[in-house]
Amino acid sequence: MHFVVMGGGPAGNQAASQAARLGVQVTLVEDEVIGGAAHLRDCIPSKTMIATGGALSAMRRMPGMGLADARAQLDLEALATRVQMIETRLASAVTELLTRQGVRLIRGQARFVEPHVVVADTAEGPVRLEADAILIATGSRPRVPSWAEPDGDRVLTTRDAYPPKELPSHVAVIGSGVTGVEFVHMFTSLGSEVTLVVSRQHVLPNKDPEVAAALEDTFLARGVRLLKGARAVGIARTPEGVRVACDDGRTVEASHAVLAVGSVPNTDRLNLPAAGVETDASGFIPVNHHCQTNVAHIYAAGDVSGTLLLSSVASMQGRKIAEHIAIGHTIAHRHLNYARAPSAVFTEPEIADVGIAEAEAFAEGRKVRVTKVPFASTARALIDNDTRGFVKIISDPATGVVLGGSIVGHSAAELISVIALAVTAELRVADIVESMFVHPALVEALAEAAE
Ligand SMILES: Cc1cc2nc3c(=O)[nH]c(=O)nc-3n(C[C@H](O)[C@H](O)[C@H](O)COP(=O)(O)OP(=O)(O)OC[C@H]3O[C@@H](n4cnc5c(N)ncnc54)[C@H](O)[C@@H]3O)c2cc1C
Repeated sequence: MHFVVMGGGPAGNQAASQAARLGVQVTLVEDEVIGGAAHLRDCIPSKTMIATGGALSAMRRMPGMGLADARAQLDLEALATRVQMIETRLASAVTELLTRQGVRLIRGQARFVEPHVVVADTAEGPVRLEADAILIATGSRPRVPSWAEPDGDRVLTTRDAYPPKELPSHVAVIGSGVTGVEFVHMFTSLGSEVTLVVSRQHVLPNKDPEVAAALEDTFLARGVRLLKGARAVGIARTPEGVRVACDDGRTVEASHAVLAVGSVPNTDRLNLPAAGVETDASGFIPVNHHCQTNVAHIYAAGDVSGTLLLSSVASMQGRKIAEHIAIGHTIAHRHLNYARAPSAVFTEPEIADVGIAEAEAFAEGRKVRVTKVPFASTARALIDNDTRGFVKIISDPATGVVLGGSIVGHSAAELISVIALAVTAELRVADIVESMFVHPALVEALAEAAE
């Protein structure tokens, strides 16, 4: 069995690693860096910058902790070095693991020539690879609307925005989904003025409105200008920077603009017709619950499959595909339930959710029990001088089974794991109540919400 993987991001490298562990012969073709855009351009650099912004914000709260003189100077050069160091360390760790597992790594661009044949175009020439199973894990790139021309200088996609050579004085962020609000948070905490162009009436349109409102309150308190109900339709360069035009006639003058308006799949250079693989109208590759495309031995995972554009989901899809290839559909092989995937928004306050949301249950007319506890009621939040946010648990009133939850506040991305585990394992709120938690810890809010 020879398994060829196209793309070395979370989906590709996890599939390769797990398949090798299960005894499959694996070749992975990557045209840039093993670890993928996730390590090099998206998750890791953005979260590293946000961590520095978070450290600065924490210093601003120091006076409330009995520390009188807490000042810090942002050093962009040191920050850029730090981003690079973390990226390199993570990419090397994955590369070393795959090499140790015996995965053949080829640096090149993969494309199909036949349903069972992939060619990797390398610096030394084409390498022909015959495969029994193939995974397309080539990821996605930022969507550029027809009215914008990113120049890498003032008009930026999310991938040009870091590490910044200079701190923008005023950034217009276009797009108020997860990526857009993370950029707002990153730039405000580093010290830039920010205007957010919000096409709807509130940020994070796919999240619980109460959660979105909590984030908007913080943005407003930090001086972010929210331009609601405005759809950007043009960006022009000006002597001072950029001018963003909106469909309602409003304009934003800023030093820089960042486009955070979604992603397009990297499927255009794969020669998919040679393999008979179909895409949808946007170029994403539809897959079934085993991540198989319309051609049974060809799988697609990660962003290219258009399911949930998250690194964590891509990794899990990759592992599941490896199991499916190596051991088939056994009892041990449970396929992914995307409704149970937790996600986080790395803003301040942090936001995380999993499973069903209160508004969603309400819209479906489904009876649910909702319990909400503010972090302000925990000792730990008072000690940490950060009492913002709350925990919300959604459960089935008849059985007590945990159906979902949302957390707004410090460490939400870590704390959601408890609710995510409960949702996946179909635990009841009583199981959370029966568990013992550390004191003083933020997780106590969660235990209280389960009461
Ligand atoms: C700004 C930003 C922040 C994000 N933050 C988070 C986060 O905090 N948490 C989270 O879970 N998700 C986050 N995401 C989403 C996450 O980055 C993606 O879901 C994840 O990278 C998808 O992994 P992947 O394996 O599908 O693709 P990628 O990570 O994009 O990897 C695909 C790889 O394939 C390679 N490739 C492409 N074409 C070819 C070819 N023809 N031949 C060979 N190789 C090829 C590419 O070079 C790339 O290395 C973020 C996204 C953005 C834009």
